[in-house]
Amino acid sequence: MNPFSLEGRRALVTGANTGIGQAIAVSLAAQGARVTCVGRRDCYETVALIEKAGGKAESLLLDLANPMAGQGVFAGEGYSILVNNAGIIRRDDSLSFTEADWDAVMDVNLKAVFFTIQAFAEAALEQDNTPAAVVNIASLLSFQGGIRVPSYTAAKHGVAGITKILANEWAAKGINVNAIAPGYIATNNTAALRADPVRNKAILDRIPAGRWGASEDIGGTAAFLCSPAARYIHGAVLNVDGGWLAR
Ligand code: NAP
Repeated sequence: MNPFSLEGRRALVTGANTGIGQAIAVSLAAQGARVTCVGRRDCYETVALIEKAGGKAESLLLDLANPMAGQGVFAGEGYSILVNNAGIIRRDDSLSFTEADWDAVMDVNLKAVFFTIQAFAEAALEQDNTPAAVVNIASLLSFQGGIRVPSYTAAKHGVAGITKILANEWAAKGINVNAIAPGYIATNNTAALRADPVRNKAILDRIPAGRWGASEDIGGTAAFLCSPAARYIHGAVLNVDGGWLAR
C-alpha cells in the first residue's frame, strides 16, 4: 500500500477558495481524498481545479467569524481529515490596537479552530478504528513576535498550544493532531508586505531558500501529515519556511 495515499478518506479544508487553503485542498484530492472546500465565499474555483484533475470535491459555505459555525457539519458524514486553514490578519501598533481587531482575529484564527476541531473529533471518535488527522495552519508567529500584529501573534501562539494539548488527549485514540508553520508565502495575506520594497527585501534577504514560499509548498506537507506515513507524528508544529527559523 502507498503510505502517502488518502484514497477513501473524506476531508474538510477551511478557507479553501484561495491561497494556501486552495493548494491544500488540491493536494489532498490529488492523493485520493474527497474534499469539502469551506469558505465564507463559494469555493467553485477550487472545486473546478480538483475535478479537472480527476478528483472529488464539493463546496460548503461557512463563516467562521462565528466560531461555532462548524457544529453539525461532521456528525455521521464520514470525515477523517480536518485542515484548519482559514485566517485573517489585522495590522496596527499595540497602543492603538482596537478591541474589535483583537476579537475578530481571535474568533477566526483561534476560537473557531478549537470548536471546529471539537465538532470534528466528536464525530471521528464515533468511527471506530478509522484513523483521523487534524492539521492546523499556524505561523512563524507561533514562535516569534512579529511586527504590528498583536492579535495574530497571540492567536497563532494559541494554535500551537491547542495542537499540543489535543495531541496529548487523542494520540492514543487514533487522531493525529499536528500543525504547519508556513514561512513567508506569496498569497493575498502577504500582498502588502510584497508590495513594500523595503520589507520585501528584508524578508527575502533572511530566507535561506532565497524566495517566497508557494502555496503548493504547504499543500504537499499537509497531505503528508494526513497520510499513514505520518501516523507516529503527534503534536508537531512543522516549519515550512525555506529555512527562516534555522537562520
Ligand atoms: P488568504 O489568501 O488571505 O486566505 C485566507 C483564507 O481564509 C481565505 O480563503 C479566506 O476567505 C478565509 N477566511 C477568512 N475569514 C474567514 C471566515 N470568517 N470564514 C471562512 N473563511 C475565512 O491567506 P493565506 O496566506 O492563504 O492564509 C491561509 C492561512 O495560512 C491563514 O491561517 C494564515 O494565517 C496562514 N499563514 C499564511 C502565511 C503567508 O505567508 N501567506 C504565513 C503563515 C501563516 P476569503 O477569501 O473570503 O477572505
